[in-house]
Amino acid sequence: MTKLAPSPELSDHIQSWIDDLPTNRLGDWPNRLCKDYNALPCHYRSLFLWCLCPDGSVIRLDLDSLGGGGDSESDPLIVYATVFGGAQAHPELLEILPPLPPDTRVCEKCGGLGYIKTAADESDSCPRCDGKILVRE
Ligand SMILES: [Zn+2]
Repeated sequence: MTKLAPSPELSDHIQSWIDDLPTNRLGDWPNRLCKDYNALPCHYRSLFLWCLCPDGSVIRLDLDSLGGGGDSESDPLIVYATVFGGAQAHPELLEILPPLPPDTRVCEKCGGLGYIKTAADESDSCPRCDGKILVRE
């Protein structure tokens, strides 16, 4: 299993990003759930939310389940996608981006976002990688 090892500085950053998550509005409930787990939301796909904890562990929250489940994630593809997704908002996270899993590459269709922005500024899950960010060769 990929174990991410953030530096103490990066770990402090992750903690402060978690502390700064907005939680006041009704639609902020996923953030409130993340705060319960002290985890930063990074990667979202079909009712699952993957989050990064200050110690570098990655957890999977099931948004359809009461309490979120909070299972630890070990699939290297998803760990990569979680860090990559989080780095869209916090480029400092690239420091702990693990090597690409063997025989995979970043999806060329969405450029690693996992979704396609449409003209109406809505986003659809990428049809090539199904929001997984990575595709197998
Ligand atoms: Zn894609």
